[in-house]
Amino acid sequence: MTKIEKKYRTALNDLIIYLKNSKLLTDNRVESALKNIPRHEFVPESELDYAYYNEPLPIMKNQTISQPGVVTRMTEWLDVKDGQKILEVGAGSGWQSAILSYLVGTGNVYSVERHPKLVKFAQENLKKLNIDNVHVILGDGSIGYPKESPYDRIIITAACTEIPLPLIEQLSENGLILAPVGDASQSLVLLQKTSKGIVEIRNESHYVFVPLVGKFGKK
Ligand code: SAH
Repeated sequence: MTKIEKKYRTALNDLIIYLKNSKLLTDNRVESALKNIPRHEFVPESELDYAYYNEPLPIMKNQTISQPGVVTRMTEWLDVKDGQKILEVGAGSGWQSAILSYLVGTGNVYSVERHPKLVKFAQENLKKLNIDNVHVILGDGSIGYPKESPYDRIIITAACTEIPLPLIEQLSENGLILAPVGDASQSLVLLQKTSKGIVEIRNESHYVFVPLVGKFGKK
């Protein structure tokens, strides 16, 4: 192990202890995803020293890679199963989609991103780890990605005033959709589409994400 790898390994172990103590990480499968998808491969060189801090970090275009504790919380809520098809809105660095791709195994993750530079950044990061079941697509994710719908799980990683209707439409029956909803501060909202309609499964306040823009995003 090189010196730098050792440094990251120690920092990751400290992060995992912190996340477990704060109950932001409770699921062994998600812990294993965190260990197998190194966050330092998804941050710009200038941020490498902070890769295992529980902080969001700047990527480019005024966007951020989400905080590890938020990614573990969201991933646990999403309750991903092997073979599922997932849609992410807001690929950013590609880290969240890589974590999901690990859990989905033989399944696939489609991640829509509006900034061409970030599409490229995410694709390059995923390629470094030989991840081939994440498909990063340039476009407006507020309208979803109808071509591959329906999805078993949908995750929005940018703040929305309300969950875009097209995304609800692209969710399969019994599927789960997770999004930060609100203005300056948001609540993480987990909904399930059932034969009787949309049911709220979980809701937790005090999150802060960059805004979802686009046709069904913030004006
Ligand atoms: N999941 C990312 C963090 C995303 S930050 C990670 O793991 O690094 C939110 C991202 O949503 C930003 O990259 C932003 O450009 C993107 N975004 C905002 N509105 C969007 C829209 N309408 N369609 C697609 N991407 C959008």
